[in-house]
Amino acid sequence: MRLRIEKITARVVDHPVRQDGAIVSSLGRHTASHYLVVTVQNAEGESGYGEATTAPIWSGESGETAKWMIDRFLSPLVVGATFDHPSDAVVIMDRHLHGNSFGKSAIDVALWDLWARQQRQSVSTIIADREPVRSIPTRVSIGCYPPEETTRLAEEFWNAGVRTLKFKTGVPGIDDVARLRAVRERLGSEPVFTIDANGAYTTVDEAVRAIEALEPFDLSLVEQPTRRDRLDALAAVHRRTSVPIMADEAIFTPDELEMAIELDAFDVLSIYPGKNGGFTHSLAMAKRAQAAGKRCAIGSNLETDLGQAPHVCLAASLSAFPVEEIACDLMGSLFYAESAVTPPIKLAEGRVALPTGPGFGVTPRV
Ligand SMILES: [Mg+2]
Repeated sequence: MRLRIEKITARVVDHPVRQDGAIVSSLGRHTASHYLVVTVQNAEGESGYGEATTAPIWSGESGETAKWMIDRFLSPLVVGATFDHPSDAVVIMDRHLHGNSFGKSAIDVALWDLWARQQRQSVSTIIADREPVRSIPTRVSIGCYPPEETTRLAEEFWNAGVRTLKFKTGVPGIDDVARLRAVRERLGSEPVFTIDANGAYTTVDEAVRAIEALEPFDLSLVEQPTRRDRLDALAAVHRRTSVPIMADEAIFTPDELEMAIELDAFDVLSIYPGKNGGFTHSLAMAKRAQAAGKRCAIGSNLETDLGQAPHVCLAASLSAFPVEEIACDLMGSLFYAESAVTPPIKLAEGRVALPTGPGFGVTPRV
């Protein structure tokens, strides 16, 4: 079914995010979610929706710059055009604008949403290479707080049913060994521990030392220990440690993925449309990583349920995501008091349910 776009609108929306237990990482403190809601419309007045989960430190985009790029550069490429498939648009956007992955993704996701809605189908039905799983275990981020606060948060999430805890690490002045020890002492051996340094360690030696210091607390994954632009350093850490390495900031694009595969820089790929510049790219990258023998998990920039819906769709539908072994960062409900969509995405017993409606199955509330 063809897709003809009549109109694109982009609105900046502030989503109140919890301040107590806000995610603190080596990139800073996430206390505001100043995002963009993108709506695409066809001639029949049907709509598709996407979210640009913008954070300047992450992709160099803010809600306002993403809106400006969409209004000024991207909308004119898409409005009035007819596409055989939603993935056709991202090729054109990439040809005309470098970077700006979250802005492009909001349009690409909205096109997939509308295309599937036109067919009265869910996107997961269309892309699935396995029977889509109905729910996915979530992994939740615990900010880089001192041991007492870290333990309080770990206990809160554990009691809410979350079984995989991701500790942000590498913030100067915070003793990561003491934090992880305190949580193991309080919660025992059952919780799955992962760490995410967000590129905090400057050298390979520093990264390896930090990992070795935390290994006694049973790490199942080490995420992005080294600087984002140093794939060679990530590969060196990968060679020197036995804990599986997850690449996050280091791999935004399909080309970066190719380079990382060549260098054998990682075991698990953190993947999601905003980072990858579109659902189309995430889909292709998940398949490429799988073909290279890698596994995938959903990452996050603290999406609302609107941004999270395509994440759940990918993880549920593709065999590249071994969701029972590697939990996904589907933690929005734990940080936003209110859902941004209807129907809200359900999080219960630490598992996020796959929305089942047409498209990605959710519609923005405002
Ligand atoms: Mg990360």
